[in-house]
Amino acid sequence: MSDPIYAQTWYDENSIKPSKSSNFNEKLNRYDFAVIGGGLAGLVLSLKLSQGGATVAVFESKTIGSGASGRNGGFCSAGWAANPIKIKRLLGEKKAELFEDLGVRGFEWMKKQVSKPTYKKVNVKFGELNLSLAKFNNKDESSLNPHNLKKYLISPRYKSGLINKDSFQFNPLNFMRILMKECLENGVHIFENCSVLKVERSDVINSFELLTKSNQNFIAQKVIYATGGYGGLCTSKLDKVLLPIKTFIAVTDPLPGTLKDHIHTEFMVSDNRRAGNYYRRLDGDRLLWGMGISAFGSKSLSTIKRDAFKDLKSHFPNLAQEMSTSGLSFEYVWSGFMGYSRNFLPYVGELSANKYALAGFGGHGMNTAPISAICLSDFLLGNRNSLNSFNGVRHLPHYGSFGKVAAEIVYKYLSLKDFISEYRPI
Ligand SMILES: Cc1cc2nc3c(=O)[nH]c(=O)nc-3n(C[C@H](O)[C@H](O)[C@H](O)COP(=O)(O)OP(=O)(O)OC[C@H]3O[C@@H](n4cnc5c(N)ncnc54)[C@H](O)[C@@H]3O)c2cc1C
Repeated sequence: MSDPIYAQTWYDENSIKPSKSSNFNEKLNRYDFAVIGGGLAGLVLSLKLSQGGATVAVFESKTIGSGASGRNGGFCSAGWAANPIKIKRLLGEKKAELFEDLGVRGFEWMKKQVSKPTYKKVNVKFGELNLSLAKFNNKDESSLNPHNLKKYLISPRYKSGLINKDSFQFNPLNFMRILMKECLENGVHIFENCSVLKVERSDVINSFELLTKSNQNFIAQKVIYATGGYGGLCTSKLDKVLLPIKTFIAVTDPLPGTLKDHIHTEFMVSDNRRAGNYYRRLDGDRLLWGMGISAFGSKSLSTIKRDAFKDLKSHFPNLAQEMSTSGLSFEYVWSGFMGYSRNFLPYVGELSANKYALAGFGGHGMNTAPISAICLSDFLLGNRNSLNSFNGVRHLPHYGSFGKVAAEIVYKYLSLKDFISEYRPI
């Protein structure tokens, strides 16, 4: 059975054709920068470095967008994986403000990017409905009450909701493929199916040699690890700091007629639980359903499918019932890795002399990965202040399996807190 981490996604079958990646016979004798990882972080960094006049090679184990960046929920909003209260506690008020501002700038950058005519195929739709399962607090005037919520969806569980007209949904794989084209047009060399296995000091002065699985060696002056939650192929200090955490997505069979009766809105929908769901309608009357995390083991495709159905049923029992009656279910299920640090903040900056990290965006990378990449590229191109916002971030070791157990316990604890607040009177 195929590994859910690389299982076929709905995006794989509903996206534009990728550009042809670079050929080994184009490779330069030496690059200014070698970027390991062809996700959103790695590509935005490469584009910016190359636009700044540097020579850049990107190495991607599989294909561009095969990591989290091309198989995620496609939700883009401001903010970070850590919530604002946590960020304030970790960084102090002043730094936290700068950090929050970066999250907004990342969101604005993405918004500008997707509005370019060349990015039309990413199929942007604006608007997010953020729901609460806790009892409706009628003192909050901006909040939709259970009656008004019915205009958007029919579910017995949600008690209130807020609309954010600015956030948007999009096809992340198309975004990655268009960004790849833009990188190539700007002179970036992109080598796919080219895992970096080792980075060693080179005989060439002030350089590293990258040894790849394709039996090709490359020389670069500086190396950036933009490996997301997929690190560990070539060990770096990052592996001690970032835990690979899995999360899951399921996409239904086409549900013509049925789906819109239960979820009327085209807005992307999320809920404000600490361990919540996110979902959105896709073209072709399908529903994309995002859920859960796991630090351990491997769930089979059939287990993810079963869990998704159970989860959907607990929010939309009538929809689930109609699906069962018609013999419909989830056609696509998959998972992906997110890189999480102990404090949920990313690692952006120097790892050791001339080696840098750009990873750890957790489940909120669509705005945070690009803005972090922009800050790092400015730094590498000579603006020594551009990483100041990241200076106070501590990088704590996760202690391997111990960290994974801790992550599972925290997730269970948060789910329990969610459960209690759902049933607690206000
Ligand atoms: C299922 C899922 C749903 C999500 N939904 C959302 C969402 O809706 N909104 C949101 O904001 N965020 C979401 N996220 C999080 C977001 O996708 C990530 O934070 C973001 O994509 C991280 O980008 P990245 O470039 O750091 O990592 P990735 O996109 O994972 O890229 C890292 C790449 O590095 C490559 N790599 C690793 N090691 C090597 C090596 N040695 N040699 C060569 N290549 C290597 C990997 O193959 C991979 O392609 C989701 C994540 C997942 C998994």
